[in-house]
Amino acid sequence: MSFTAAAKVFILFGDPVAHSLSPVMQNAALQAAGIDGLYIPWRVQSTDLPTAFESIRRMENFGGANVTIPHKEQAFTLVDTLTPEAAAVGAINTVVSKDGRLLGANTDGPGFIRSLHEGADFLPRGKPVVILGAGGAARAVAVSLAGAGAAPIVIINRTAERAQSLTEFIHGTIGATALGLGLDDPRTPTSVRDCALVVNTTSVGLHPTDPSPIDPHLLQPGVVVYDLIYRPRETALLREAKRRGCRVVGGLGMLLYQGALAFELWTGIEPSEAAMRQALVTAVA
Ligand code: NAP
Repeated sequence: MSFTAAAKVFILFGDPVAHSLSPVMQNAALQAAGIDGLYIPWRVQSTDLPTAFESIRRMENFGGANVTIPHKEQAFTLVDTLTPEAAAVGAINTVVSKDGRLLGANTDGPGFIRSLHEGADFLPRGKPVVILGAGGAARAVAVSLAGAGAAPIVIINRTAERAQSLTEFIHGTIGATALGLGLDDPRTPTSVRDCALVVNTTSVGLHPTDPSPIDPHLLQPGVVVYDLIYRPRETALLREAKRRGCRVVGGLGMLLYQGALAFELWTGIEPSEAAMRQALVTAVA
């Protein structure tokens, strides 16, 4: 990787950030595009995020930024304008500097939908779906699936109140038919048995010894099972789902496509997805 003293600087805000694969992926894209720039992680606590955003406003060689855990919702309040997608989700993962103003975008949902289509040829319109989890990633996934016409959308979460609150949010903003349940709700097993798509957005599976976040016996053959987790590449959920004849997709494609969309917003250039994918695959291996 090479850059000069005039390089544009691209930043990833998060806490922690050391685990992120975005630097390796975005630096590969910058290099492949021949852009004089570098992408760096900036670990920052929530209390200091407003100051960090003030700094990028004054940084003349600011190229663009990503925002990751736990700052996506706070960053939403620190930009000047929002894309319609970001406004619908209520959180941002991308910051673009435009005419001296900061634009907040959310590329997680579109990245997920593209990866779902590519990985399983799945079109959500009219299909019943289950989302496991109700955190930040679930919000982006739920809004994108609701926007793509999935129905009904059942959100199942350890903390039932969070599932219900996300359900009310997508019903209120998009008008989607949605239901929020706790893991032990008597309607949970039927919802999983009857759906066409299960998406895991919980962090259960990040550790190689983690069990499946849902009873795998409920998974029916032919159902698409998507796990947002990309490291390990095969979680217990995907392993069990594959064994039961489901079509399975891991989270690497979403990571790639949300990153490619962010890159295009910052630079106006379509990045080399081949270079980004290669960097990711090497890093994950
Ligand atoms: P988050 O806001 O912290 O939400 C975490 C969710 O996991 C919550 O619903 C939480 O339930 C649930 N959870 C955590 N531990 C659990 C346990 N032991 N049992 C059952 N449920 C549990 O995190 P996030 O930002 O949504 O991220 C979630 C996952 O998505 C992470 O693994 C992240 O790496 C992945 N992700 C991947 C991509 C990609 O590009 N592939 C993009 C974004 C995120 P409670 O509400 O009950 O706490």
